[in-house]
Amino acid sequence: MTARLHVDLSALTANIARVRETVAPAELMLVVKDDAYGHGLEAVVRTAVDAGVRWFGAFDARTGTAVRAAAGDAVRIFTWIAASRDDLRAALAAHLDLGIGDAELLEDLADAASGASAAPRVHLKIDTGLHRNGVRPEAWPAFVDRAAELQSAGLLEVAGIWSHIAEASDAEDDDARTLFEWALDEAAAAGIHPSVRHLAASAASFARPAFRYDMVRVGAFCYGIRSAGGPSAGELGLAPIGRLEAEVVAVHDDGVRVDIGALAGLPTSLSGGRARVGTPAGGRRLEIVGESHSLVEGWPDAAVGDTVTLFGPGTCGEASATDLAELIGTIGEEIALRVSPLIPRVYR
Ligand SMILES: *Cc1c(COP(=O)(O)O)cnc(C)c1O
Repeated sequence: MTARLHVDLSALTANIARVRETVAPAELMLVVKDDAYGHGLEAVVRTAVDAGVRWFGAFDARTGTAVRAAAGDAVRIFTWIAASRDDLRAALAAHLDLGIGDAELLEDLADAASGASAAPRVHLKIDTGLHRNGVRPEAWPAFVDRAAELQSAGLLEVAGIWSHIAEASDAEDDDARTLFEWALDEAAAAGIHPSVRHLAASAASFARPAFRYDMVRVGAFCYGIRSAGGPSAGELGLAPIGRLEAEVVAVHDDGVRVDIGALAGLPTSLSGGRARVGTPAGGRRLEIVGESHSLVEGWPDAAVGDTVTLFGPGTCGEASATDLAELIGTIGEEIALRVSPLIPRVYR
């Protein structure tokens, strides 16, 4: 197998600096779910710690525990999916911050925490319209009252209040923010004054200053993946950090056979010649994505061993992960995340 995902860690450092300068004085929480969007958790976390990142967004307890191992004790690690009491215990053991959007889970946590050495830090989640999880507005006042009670009893510390928004339309996001403001006021009335309020992910963190509050949770932009329909990475002052390459294994009359296919994570729906990939002779059509190989439009002097760039910055014609994603109606993260774990990540 010749396919490789090249990951440019100095580009990651530069993107992190760009995001931090854009959102300041709000803090950056670097989101590293899904193996740091397919780039490799450990290398990304270590680089980010060196770049001064103090908060990580780690999805679940297992990822959070891996971040703790790579980053050490000085950082804060936010996780927002806890499926069981075992997850809660694992999160407590690794001193993770927990996003809680469910009244029952809050009780489970208080139970799990009694007898723990330090009160767990929780971030209460209001559902502002996405219905993913989060406490519905009608249940919020009772929820924050109970959280205040548990905080007074020393069983937990409310560190944050948060929600997640669609970032698909400004009008919907504005409605979500109105609800978020109301949730903050209700919490304050219950005696809860969190040190971090967070709402925005990549797109809103750049485009909507009012959505930044104390912290933004950014994944895509730190990896240089732009939003579908949004400004290019270059326009945002960011650079893609991942470049997927594979070698030519045969040259045929009807095109060039490249050593990467659906098994490595390329969606077969990219077949049909609409996507363009980079070759030593510039951009060429991606004709067919097969199981283990793909067929690319030929070029003069194409030779076995030539390098083809599927996405990411290269010296020849190129597409971004989001360009490919838009062709098949998905988002850039989806393309980056599908790159098989069996494809080696090469760091520089
Ligand atoms: C994935 C995720 C983010 C980061 O989103 P990006 O658009 O990649 O920046 C932020 N918050 C939550 C809850 C997420 O699941």
